[in-house]
Amino acid sequence: MTASEDIIYMRRALQLALCGEAAAAPNPMVGAVIVHKGRIIGEGYHRRCGGPHAEVNAVRSVALADQTLLGESTIYVTLEPCAHWGKTPPCADLIIEKGIPRVVVGCKDPFAKVDGLGIKKLQDAGCEVVVGVLEEECRELNRVFMTYHSKHRPFVTLKWAQRPDGSVNGQISTPFTQMLVHRLRARCGAILVGTGTMLADHPSLTVRDWSLRGEQPLRITIDRHNRLPKELTDGFLVYHTETLEEILADLYQRGVQHLLVEGGPTLHRSFMEAGLYDEVRIETSDKRSDHSIDGHTIERRRIGQSPLRALSEYE
Ligand SMILES: [Zn+2]
Repeated sequence: MTASEDIIYMRRALQLALCGEAAAAPNPMVGAVIVHKGRIIGEGYHRRCGGPHAEVNAVRSVALADQTLLGESTIYVTLEPCAHWGKTPPCADLIIEKGIPRVVVGCKDPFAKVDGLGIKKLQDAGCEVVVGVLEEECRELNRVFMTYHSKHRPFVTLKWAQRPDGSVNGQISTPFTQMLVHRLRARCGAILVGTGTMLADHPSLTVRDWSLRGEQPLRITIDRHNRLPKELTDGFLVYHTETLEEILADLYQRGVQHLLVEGGPTLHRSFMEAGLYDEVRIETSDKRSDHSIDGHTIERRRIGQSPLRALSEYE
């Protein structure tokens, strides 16, 4: 098996992993491909939290006639196979039991109960283990999960809207960008806004324009000087603390893996100054109202390109 073949099959495993985007959380997205002499004989991914892992689904997908080929095959997994008993038995044990001699791993799993133990278990059993094929892509895919488990705080996304010239005044969102924002919200465990935004906008922070599997994200605000009337914070988790570290530590304890900070500028600045953010998403719009004919306003919009630009600070 050449290195370029390893990349091809790992890319396929990454494609499969992404299929778990909607329901795998809080577990990571993982894909697995089993290859025998240039032919894929099994594929799987982690569909939903609590369900079988990618490796199990891949092994189960192998046709009866191909079962005997497992002893001469390679399994590609985007994330290190688990070594512990969770809701399902360890995948490293399954690979060993099936006699799969070669395991190619995208990246290590920082989760404390795995963290190299899966790789060690496979090596101790005599498997050839290759680690780090398309490592960057594999880590990027699960950047939220990775950050939560390695930094012991939620992955923090700062999000705001601005015009192309950088100004933030007036209505910038369009129905389309609003839908994208709701999609982003649907993938976050919690949404945070500051006191000023609560007072000015009375935001509901719910997911309405995107389908939601499971519960609405936790809604959070900070009220350091008790300025918020009670009716405004109904249904919100309110922090009265000064420090962002304390808030993030509490959210970590609550199991929130992804925090979306929606505003306003003062709050965003605090996160940036503290270096406590991983990603910035800027909602832009080319919507202009400077073209008018006989008093009719024509709106110009950018079409065919996502107006939600992502600037990743993740590494
Ligand atoms: Zn597993």
